[in-house]
Amino acid sequence: MGEKGMLIVVSGPSGAGKGTLCNILLNRVENLFLSISATTRSPRAQEIHGESYFFLDKNDFENKIKNGDFLEWAKVYNNYYGTPKEFVNNMLNEGKDVILEIDTQGAAQVKRNCPAGVFIFISPPDIQELKKRIVKRGSETQDSIDLRVKRARDELKASLDYDYVVFNDDLDKAALKIQSIVLSERCKVSRNKKILQAILGGN
Ligand code: ADP
Ligand code: 5GP
Repeated sequence: MGEKGMLIVVSGPSGAGKGTLCNILLNRVENLFLSISATTRSPRAQEIHGESYFFLDKNDFENKIKNGDFLEWAKVYNNYYGTPKEFVNNMLNEGKDVILEIDTQGAAQVKRNCPAGVFIFISPPDIQELKKRIVKRGSETQDSIDLRVKRARDELKASLDYDYVVFNDDLDKAALKIQSIVLSERCKVSRNKKILQAILGGN
């Protein structure tokens, strides 16, 4: 059997550019898959159930918590969000790398259970720019914008527990950085022991 896949956790305040950077990464790097989260928040225009998120009502979500269906879950901006466990475990067991785009509370849970994961924090250049980006995205009400900007500082404080920080000022440069992190992590000796042993064993 080959190596297990790598778990990549991407966090950062709302509007930092996580979704934008993860999409670029998924287009550029092969053998990499995005975990689709479940949430109780309402779909935004153009969001599709099963593609952007699994949109669940509160009862269904709480039942899934009780059943132990989530790798991690958290309440973020007054809604539940969680990572379905089965998909992630299946992919990792097949040697595929998986990205979780989750908040810092969820990332802390993952770190406790999967310390070999790669933890990447996406930071905006500053809070003013963050606010501009959330407004420009056009997806949030004024209350939701205020809540997200207010929470940004707490999210930023949690960056100290991550392995990498990518400042998303210039998008191309930030995309190259996150791509470089993933490719470098894949080259770590600790992630390639079985292949190295097979080469040695082959004489
Ligand atoms: P998040 O997933 O972290 O909430 P998004 O990826 O949705 O953030 O990005 C928020 C908004 O900012 C989007 O409209 C996106 O197009 C824009 N954006 C992302 N990165 C940059 C960047 N480097 N420069 C300017 N705008 C950006
Ligand atoms: P949004 O509502 O903007 O899509 O996401 C809001 C926040 O929830 C973002 O910080 C995002 O990373 C986080 N989030 C999305 N999915 C999950 C998840 O499965 N678990 C956790 N803990 N946070 C998530």
